[in-house]
Parts: sequence; structure tokens; C-alpha cells
Amino acid sequence: MTKFPSTEVDPANTPWSYETTAVQTGIPRGLGETVGLPIHQAAAFQFSTLEEAQDEFARNQGLSYARLQNPTVRALEERLTALEGGAATVALSSGQAATLTAILSVCRAGDHVAATASLFGGSAGLLNNILPLMGISATLTENTPGAIAAAMRPNTRLVWAETIGNPAGDVPDLAALAQIAHERGALLGIDNTWGGVGYLCRPLEFGADLVTHSLTKWAGGHGSVLGGSVTAGSRHDLTRNPIYTEGGENSLLSQRGEQALAWRVRWLGAHQMGMTLSPHSAFLLAQGLETLALRLTRESETALALAQWLSGHPRVQGVSYPGLRSSPHHALAQKYLRGGFGAVLTFEVPDPAAFLARLKVIRIAPNLGDTRTLAVHPWTTTHGRLPEAARRAAGVSAQTIRMSVGLESLEDLQADLEGALA
Ligand SMILES: *Cc1c(COP(=O)(O)O)cnc(C)c1O
Repeated sequence: MTKFPSTEVDPANTPWSYETTAVQTGIPRGLGETVGLPIHQAAAFQFSTLEEAQDEFARNQGLSYARLQNPTVRALEERLTALEGGAATVALSSGQAATLTAILSVCRAGDHVAATASLFGGSAGLLNNILPLMGISATLTENTPGAIAAAMRPNTRLVWAETIGNPAGDVPDLAALAQIAHERGALLGIDNTWGGVGYLCRPLEFGADLVTHSLTKWAGGHGSVLGGSVTAGSRHDLTRNPIYTEGGENSLLSQRGEQALAWRVRWLGAHQMGMTLSPHSAFLLAQGLETLALRLTRESETALALAQWLSGHPRVQGVSYPGLRSSPHHALAQKYLRGGFGAVLTFEVPDPAAFLARLKVIRIAPNLGDTRTLAVHPWTTTHGRLPEAARRAAGVSAQTIRMSVGLESLEDLQADLEGALA
């Protein structure tokens, strides 16, 4: 069988810290090996005999065709698995691809998703507009265990939330949501984009079964590349989901055992739907991960300082940041986050258009997790397509500014904001 280079690291069992894991996993050691991750710019891989080809086509565990797997993408996947403390990861072409694939991995026509309402606009779009085309329905509700429990139906296969809601800054009670999902035979899926690839939060440790990312944000970290990922944990129970149990001996669970969930994610997202990540993007994302801890620590410190300062500013209202002691989400943030409270804050200004026009350092752009500080007006842009009630449920008002804090100095950012507020 075609083999991947061994990295001498068992991702599930590494004693390393986050920082060491981030720079060491996925790169083989030995004579002549590259020190950094090489890019395998290839669409297909060779076999030396027909037997080898037949074996690979039957098992899909090595290399054959790059829509299925590529060594550079595989190295990124190993790194992501280790950083999230998961069992297996599939990297895909965008966060949207990851969300769609994660949902379809456990839902089919007739099934239901119970989700929190404070979701990234694109995730709400998938749940409200795209999945119904396939017969999958969703309820988006308040981010409390009680509201999620009330939204559960007999056909609910998935509970869905974000580590830190976008842009409300609300933190779900992960352990409580896991319990609600598992009692009813459903899985808990968490979009951990704002949790910084396991640096601020590892949802799998609190009972989540699936974790997704928009790697475009803090993983890439420089606003230069799109990517997404789905990481499966190792403790999920699929014995109550017919997708996995139907077919007796031929069922996914009988055939694939503990690998069934990760196998289906790869089969759906990469093999069948073709939302494969390119090797060059995988290289950029793996490189970004090497400095994520440094960046997110610094960005979180600056974001907290700005949130505290803005809270006392006479022209600013409604500062929302989970790191503020006054935040209604602070207690859950302290329970589930470590190493910082993230790089994103929101606040309300009297005239958002005038405020944005006066900024000289901070740029107007929809991305998150860039090295540069970016601001948007979610009401008319990122969340603009949602009905007004849904925008309010997501924590957005017509005055809200969302800011993703980058690596500029606190002093320069403060002066820029002061100038724009004057
Ligand atoms: C950006 C984002 C996505 C979508 O990711 P893309 O890479 O833009 O497709 C999903 N979830 C969250 C929380 C995001 O911020």
C-alpha cells in the first residue's frame, strides 16, 4: 500500500504542549527530509503493480488521486487532529465546506438540526436555505441548554453551536449541550473557529463529537488563504443513527467501526462533493498554525484592553466581549476558554458609516483572525441577508461594529478608534 511519510508522532497520544505540537507534527525526521512542510503539488500518485492499485481503491487509506488525499493536506490534518485532541481530521476547501460536510455526515432527508441562533451568517444560511433543499430541517434558538432541549425532536441528529457566537460573543454551555444531544442519540457539533484550533478551547474535551473550523481565520492567520476542517472525536455513539446502522453487516458501523464518522466525512466532503483543499493552501494553513498560539495570545490581550477602554468611552455603548467581567457570558467563557478570550469584540457607535470612514489603521473588511485589525458593520454586510429578528438574535443591531483585533500595537489601535469616535 502507498504509505504516507511517518512523522513519528501519534497525534492522539502526544505529551507535547500546544506550542510544540503546532510546530512539530506532520513533518518527518531523517536524512534529507525538509525541515518545514513540503508542498506535494500533484494530482495523482503512482502504483508499481495493479495489485497495489486495487488494494488502495478498496481501502482508500493511502495515495491515489489528490481529490481524495495528498501528503501536504494529510500533514495539515495530522496537525489539526493533534491540536484539537481528536481522532481524525478531514481538511476541506473552506469553512462553509466543512460545516456542510459535518451536517451531512449525520443528517439525511427527514432529519433535524437543533442549533443556537448566534451563528456565523453562512452557517445560518446553510441551515435555513440549503439543507431544507435536501429535506433536512433546522431550529435556530436561544443559546441556552433549556432552549436547545426544547428544540430537540425525535429526528434531531445534531446539536450545533459555536464556541463563541458570532458576533454576540456568547459561549454555549458545552457540557450541558453534549448531555442533551447524547441523551437523545444525537451528536454535538461545534464550530470552533473562534476557539482558535484548540488553543482557546477544545470542545471535544467537553463532550462535543465533531469540531469544525474555518481555517481561513486564525489558522491561516494572515488573510491569505481559504480552508476548513472537520475533526471527529473518539467517543461518539452512532448506534442510534440509521445512516450508520442500516444494512446489517454492510452498515457503515460494521464496516468501518470507530473510523465510520471520519470515513464518511472524507467520503462526502472530498471524494464525492470534491470540496478538497489544495496542497498550496494546506501548506499556508499549516504554516499559520505554527504561530497561532503567539498571535492569539497577543490579540486576546489587545482585545481585552480595547474592550475595557471602550466600555468607559462616552461615545460607545454595548461593548460585548466574553473577557469582560460585566459580560453575561463571562462565567461560561472562564469555564471553557483558556489562554485568552479571543480576538473579536463588538460595540455600538452612533453613526457606523461615519465611524468606519474615519479609521486610518483599522481596515473595513469581513475577515477574522488576520494579522491586521478589521472592522465591519454586520447589520448591512456579514449578517445583512438574515431577517431582522434573526440579526437581533445573533446579537447584531444597526449600530453594531464587529472588530477582529490584529497584531498592531494597542496604542495605535486606541488612537485610531479615538480619532474615528471624535
Ligand atoms: C468564516 C466562518 C465560517 C465560514 O468559513 P469560510 O472559510 O469563509 O467558508 C464558518 N464559521 C465561522 C465561525 C466563521 O467565522
